[in-house]
Amino acid sequence: MSEHYNKQTVEATVWCARCGKNTPHRVFDGRRQHCLICAALREAESQRAKRQGELFKGNYEQDKRT
Ligand SMILES: [Zn+2]
Repeated sequence: MSEHYNKQTVEATVWCARCGKNTPHRVFDGRRQHCLICAALREAESQRAKRQGELFKGNYEQDKRT
């Protein structure tokens, strides 16, 4: 809570515990938001999960027909 950023700051490189290194973070209204790396990973993960879900559904539909 000791970190303060200028209101104009939109990005800051700070330590991310999940990444285990300094990473760019989005800063909004002077407050640090999610790490961009984690956000990108999470986005990719959810996209992959969605694709897999569709794939499973496709297989399931196929199994029902056979
Ligand atoms: Zn991170």
